[in-house]
Amino acid sequence: MESHVDVLIVGGGPTGASLALALRDSGLDVVVLEAQREVGEGDDPRALALSYGTRLILQQLDVWRRLRSATPIETVHVSQRGGFGRALLKADESGLPALGYVVDYPDLNAALQAKVAEAELAYLSGATVTALRSGAEAAEAEFDHGDGSHRVRAKLLVLADGGRCLDLLPDMAPSVKDYRQCAVLARVKSEQPNRHIAYERFTPLGPIALLPSGDRWALVWTVSTEEAGELMALGEEEFLERLHDRFGDRAGRFTAVGPRASWPLVLKQTRPVTGQRLAVVGNAAQILHPFAGQGFNLALRDAWELADEILKAAPADIGDEAMLRAYRGRREWDTKGGIAFTDSVLSLFTNAVPSLQAARGIGLTLLDTLPGAKPLLLNRLIYGARS
Ligand SMILES: Cc1cc2nc3c(=O)[nH]c(=O)nc-3n(C[C@H](O)[C@H](O)[C@H](O)COP(=O)(O)OP(=O)(O)OC[C@H]3O[C@@H](n4cnc5c(N)ncnc54)[C@H](O)[C@@H]3O)c2cc1C
Repeated sequence: MESHVDVLIVGGGPTGASLALALRDSGLDVVVLEAQREVGEGDDPRALALSYGTRLILQQLDVWRRLRSATPIETVHVSQRGGFGRALLKADESGLPALGYVVDYPDLNAALQAKVAEAELAYLSGATVTALRSGAEAAEAEFDHGDGSHRVRAKLLVLADGGRCLDLLPDMAPSVKDYRQCAVLARVKSEQPNRHIAYERFTPLGPIALLPSGDRWALVWTVSTEEAGELMALGEEEFLERLHDRFGDRAGRFTAVGPRASWPLVLKQTRPVTGQRLAVVGNAAQILHPFAGQGFNLALRDAWELADEILKAAPADIGDEAMLRAYRGRREWDTKGGIAFTDSVLSLFTNAVPSLQAARGIGLTLLDTLPGAKPLLLNRLIYGARS
């Protein structure tokens, strides 16, 4: 069976589903192919820190009100272990109800899927893409669904598959930097309530983020691959003691930890993010270290701005080079900035050289005290960079 559509989205995870929703009233023929039968079901332990700007987009997609787990972040506290200086970012200083929100990953997927179902989008679950072709006139995908193999042609093919299909396309190999680190994820409880504070604590061995999540904390603890194995194997008490030892006293003693998971960390970039009749978005375009909570925030802006370019184009121009150039131009500054910010802060703060420790302390103090520094950073983190 072969069909022709305007926009074909490969991958119906958070980015692909958001893009499809942003196009829901366009009158265009949009199809999503998703390999899983039930997206995001189960116990994915990720807690995502979503910026206030992301909330505004999810509201426009009619997804925000469906979330059950959004815990506001009212203060962000940044510090370094064994060094002076700290910075406090506060929602009331930015005139917003919250700097961001912490959302359980399965909850985000469930909210998106509920809206996809309500909007009656052409979203095909259990459809695994096996071949891709991009050409001057159209792009094409082959996929397995049910008992058969199918083919679909599109004016524009959007890869929102987390990057798994990139090797089906020549010249789209991503560059990869392996951090040789893992994020150990868990929900923890401490003596002190979280009071909607998010802590980012840099240690020479890797950053530790504690995000407010309901009445607990969502822990994102970056360690070497070897230590991650050790942390996964520790008994509950030893794990909590090691965490307290590394994180310090700010949350009081840690009293309980839920199931743990360990995630290998890489920086992956696919460039350029467009090809003939092709756009690459979300994790397929860039995978970042999670310590700064940028990944889905950037991914959603990819989807939102691509949808805007599609909606602005005349139907005959969807997927042509002019449209794709406009999209590339819009996203370049935001994604480059997000990647550079995450990667450079990480290298700067995990470097144990003593002179750098002092420089970091000065940096944190300046950020905290210099007029204009915090609004600039907050604006960048909340809304992304504009070109
Ligand atoms: C530990 C950790 C913590 C994080 N914390 C944060 C945070 O605090 N804030 C934040 O903003 N981001 C965070 N992120 C990043 C965030 O999770 C990702 O950016 C986001 O999930 C990307 O979604 P996506 O839809 O682009 O990709 P994916 O979630 O990978 O979805 C891709 C979809 O494509 C489908 N697919 C794959 N192959 C095929 C195929 N052949 N055919 C059809 N379908 C296919 C898959 O089944 C999947 O549903 C974190 C990530 C990690 C690992």
